[in-house]
Formats: sequence, structure tokens, C-alpha cells
Amino acid sequence: MNTPVTIVGAGLGGLTLARVLRVNGIEAIVYESERSPDARAQGGMLDIHDYNGQLALEAAGLMAEFRAAVLPGREAYRGLATDGTLLFDKADDGTGGRPEVQRGDLRRILLDSLPAGTVRWGHKVDGVRALGGGRHELSFAGRGSVTTSLLVGADGAWSRVRPLLTGAVPVYAGTSFIETFLYDVQRRHPDVARVAGPGTTIASDFAGRQINAHREADGTLHVYAELTEPLEFFDSIDVTRIARQFDGWAPELLAFITDSDTAPVHRPHYALPPEGLRWGHRPGVTLIGDAAHLAAPDGEGANLAMQDAAELGAALAAHGGDGLTSYEETLFPRSAEHAVAAAYKPTREDMIEFFAV
Ligand SMILES: Cc1cc2nc3c(=O)[nH]c(=O)nc-3n(C[C@H](O)[C@H](O)[C@H](O)COP(=O)(O)OP(=O)(O)OC[C@H]3O[C@@H](n4cnc5c(N)ncnc54)[C@H](O)[C@@H]3O)c2cc1C
Repeated sequence: MNTPVTIVGAGLGGLTLARVLRVNGIEAIVYESERSPDARAQGGMLDIHDYNGQLALEAAGLMAEFRAAVLPGREAYRGLATDGTLLFDKADDGTGGRPEVQRGDLRRILLDSLPAGTVRWGHKVDGVRALGGGRHELSFAGRGSVTTSLLVGADGAWSRVRPLLTGAVPVYAGTSFIETFLYDVQRRHPDVARVAGPGTTIASDFAGRQINAHREADGTLHVYAELTEPLEFFDSIDVTRIARQFDGWAPELLAFITDSDTAPVHRPHYALPPEGLRWGHRPGVTLIGDAAHLAAPDGEGANLAMQDAAELGAALAAHGGDGLTSYEETLFPRSAEHAVAAAYKPTREDMIEFFAV
């Protein structure tokens, strides 16, 4: 392939693709709207699964770096009923298939594995145009344009590349997270620290309200309180109003919200069609990650973005631009399966069965 593969988006999907291509001797350029690798805090913890995300890291030749970044003990899962009763408490014995890392550490590993200059920071794509014959033109806000014969949209939920392939747009999935942080939780929030497990803690009423909390590397408890409410409900939020939605829950669980050291942040969930996105194959362009199959968070999105990247990288290495077709044939059924799984609301019995083994 003469023209370097052109990837839009330096998230986990885009970076994994650039790395897998490099391992296979194929040059890629990644255009990213953020101004630098440190322009934005990179979210919280990610469990990377042995059946998708880890396979991608193997293809990227980065398993040793990944293992070194795993946070010991964080694969523990504690489940609580709304009155604080323990439902399950699964310890991390170091043999599980879903070890946890900080998202920022994983992104750094991928960035460090790429030659300098691979990622062109501060390049926000604001226009895409098909030129015919599989070629496309990308324009960047105030920074000119490029043409390419192989374009990959790894640009997340609000992809600018997606409209080349489909008119589908994400819609609000009906649920939102409210994000809170409790810093130095052991010392500053001892009552919460006693209730929260050493890894992930989940408290749910299995009717649309849930609290998920993760122990991060630096003693922070990172909390997502999930509510099933229309978007307008979140127009004005404060911790008291959010905690009121969990009325009747044990006070020590409400403290995951009310003891926050930061103002609560609304993270609405958007999703592409519930049957999974498909498009008619077009030469020279495809999508990976959230651009292809955005769904409400279910612990799979980042893993799937990396899996897409590894599979697309392998297909391009084996078949050049013709590899897009075989990649998409595998992608579409996987996206459909993911859309259904992400929309499924687990019952109490599901959760106990899943975690208590
Ligand atoms: C609150 C929350 C919690 C989550 N927890 C988990 C979890 O525990 N496990 C898990 O597997 N998944 C989780 N997910 C899902 C996961 O974050 C996504 O599925 C994953 O980040 C998708 O990766 P991506 O590379 O496709 O897209 P992104 O990570 O969104 O990366 C896209 C990149 O493209 C760039 N970009 C966007 N538009 C442009 C443009 N026009 N021009 C140039 N660059 C552009 C963006 O700046 C970004 O860097 C969670 C999601 C949320 C919202």
C-alpha cells in the first residue's frame, strides 16, 4: 500500500490500529482533534478482557507492558443490595480474565509504541468528502486538508467519518451516569471506604438505579451513579437532588454521591440502532469502535474498539484495501450482539451468577 492508512481519532481503537499496522510493517497516520496527549484527563479504570481487549494487545505486541500496568487486587467485585446487605464479594486472586488498568496508562502504552509524529495532534476533522475510486478528502478546522485511499473512522460517538457510510445517528439510550469522586477515600471518607470493596463495588435496585464505584490507583473512589431518567431531568443537578433519586437506600450508599469531593458531572448514554449498525460496503473507508457500534456503557466498548482495530489491522495486512470487506463481515454480527447485550438490564440473579463464581 503506497498511501499511509489514515485514521481519525487517537482513542484506544485508533491507536491500537496504528500499532497493529506498524507491527505488520504498514504505515499509518492518526489525526486527533485534541491538542496534545495530556489535553484531557483520560477517564477511569478499564477491565481488559481475555476474550477481546487482551487479544488485541497480543496482536499489538504489548502484553508485557499491559501486565506491568495492571493494578493488583482491583479485579475484586462486591455487590450490595440497596439496604447495604452483601450479595457477593469476589476476591481478586490474580487469575481472573478481566484485569483492571487506568485508561490513561493504557493509552500511554499505545502512544509510546508508535514512532514520533504518527499522531497529528490538534487536527479536528470538520469535513469528509468522497472523491471516487475509494479515495477521500479530509479537511481540518483551520489546518488544510489531505486525501487518502484508506480512511478509518475511529472518532467515537459523534464520528465525522460515519456519514460517508450511513445516515445513522446516536440517540439517547434513556440512562445517564452521574460521576463523583471521593479522594483519599481511606483517610477522608472512612465510612464509605468500609462499604466499598477493594476493586469494583456495585449496588443496584435492578429497576434502573445503580451505583458503580472503582478504587483507582491513587486511593480515589471513582463513582458512577446510574439513573433512568429523560435528558431534561439532568438540566440542573447537585448531589442532594441526585441522592434524592436513591431515596430509601442505605445512608452509607448515598454517601458515595453526597460525600463527593467534586461537583457531580452528567454523562448521558447514547447508542446507535438497537439492532446493530450495518452499511453497504464502500471501497476505501470503514469504521471501528464507538464510531461503528456505540452503546450504553456495559464494560465492553473499549475492549471491542481494540478488537475491531486488531482484526482490521490483520485484514489490511493480509489483503490490503480488499481486507475491509472481510473485516466488516465479522464486525456487523458482533456489533448486533453487542447492541442487544448492552441494552439488556441484568437481574439480581444474573449479577450474582456472573460475579459470585
Ligand atoms: C462513563 C463511561 C464508562 C465506560 N466504561 C467502560 C469500561 O469500563 N470498559 C469498556 O470497555 N468500555 C467502557 N466505556 C466505553 C468506552 O469508553 C468506549 O467504548 C471507547 O472509549 C471507544 O473507543 P474509541 O477509540 O472507539 O473511541 P473514543 O475513545 O471516543 O476515541 C475517539 C477519539 O477520536 C477523537 N475525535 C473525535 N472526533 C474527532 C474529529 N472530528 N477529528 C479528530 N479527532 C476526533 C476524540 O478526541 C477521541 O480521542 C465507557 C464509556 C463511558 C461513557
